[in-house]
Amino acid sequence: MKLNLDIEPLSSWLATGKEPLVIAGPCSAETEEQLVATAHLLAATGKISVLRAGIWKPRTRPGEFEGIGSIGLEWLKRAKEETGLLTATEVATAKHVEEALAAGVDILWVGARSTANPFTVQEIADALKGIDVPVFVKNPVNPDLSLWIGALERINRAGIKKLGAIHRGFSSYEKTAFRNEPMWDLAIQLKTIAPELPIINDPSHICGTRELIPYVAQKAVDLDMQGFIIEAHIDPSVAWTDAKQQVTPAALAEIINNLSLRKAESNDPAFEDKLAELRKEIDALDVQLIKNVADRMKISEKIGEYKRDNKVTILQVNRWEEIIEQRSKLAKALNLDEEFTVKLLELIHGESIRKQNLIMNAKPSVEA
Ligand code: PEP
Ligand code: MN
Repeated sequence: MKLNLDIEPLSSWLATGKEPLVIAGPCSAETEEQLVATAHLLAATGKISVLRAGIWKPRTRPGEFEGIGSIGLEWLKRAKEETGLLTATEVATAKHVEEALAAGVDILWVGARSTANPFTVQEIADALKGIDVPVFVKNPVNPDLSLWIGALERINRAGIKKLGAIHRGFSSYEKTAFRNEPMWDLAIQLKTIAPELPIINDPSHICGTRELIPYVAQKAVDLDMQGFIIEAHIDPSVAWTDAKQQVTPAALAEIINNLSLRKAESNDPAFEDKLAELRKEIDALDVQLIKNVADRMKISEKIGEYKRDNKVTILQVNRWEEIIEQRSKLAKALNLDEEFTVKLLELIHGESIRKQNLIMNAKPSVEA
């Protein structure tokens, strides 16, 4: 599947001259001093192009700080005038869109909770009709690629061609080191079906704690994401929201400085030759891999027939446990990750069972 988005390349609407693109600023605008002072420090690093600040905050529980509201738009305007940085904020209703645009905000983004709700996204899209403003769409809170795609399509159909996606990770029931699981696969899938769509990474909301940010940011660079939105605060320890994940402007500059930037391609013919050679080897191994899996399935089918004729069940737990144990040992000795090996075996085993099931439950063909 390929997505049919009508979009303009990022370089034509956000030519910053800086690599990577960095949008940074506090999770929330709190006071005029906090926002303007943070903006000055960020601008002084020379690393960032756009100042972010949440004006209206989607909070999980009522009674928490729900954003400073419209007054903060004036502070964003002042920060822009004084630093020359572009500005960006989250919009979740038609009124937010109108107010943000009236105050001269340069870039809007749709938050993760809004992306999860098609009514909300449609309301935002309708408010954007006929307006030429860049919009980024965060992934939805839940790991549902269709919702992310649907939101991008709604905004695009409203006529927004300066469109990008923000990968901010996904809620998961399992507690892990991350606040929101990156589930990189979903971002890769989006990139695959919409190669022209810029995707930037939000390591702050993925990590939840600032210590993990450099690791996630590097991974985003390695996956060829086009930039970042990172929360930065003049004094993170007293931030009103998301205090644990915000970094100082100086720390942000260090994170960006320490990234090993990579190019999607190289112009060096020797590199290209070597890469082509290695890819050939991969191609040959993939052919072998698929042939081996097909051969394995054929044997599974034979086993299915044999079990059917002898009235034996498909799943034999002992045998399965033995396979997992033996293969995992071998895989480990060959330097393969254990979790990966088990997942791979489970996939193959699942398919074997499906095939055996078809054989064992096939209706006898009725001869005419
Ligand atoms: C934010 O950017 O501060 C925010 C609320 O993010 P998300 O929508 O990703 O939770
Ligand atoms: Mn935040």
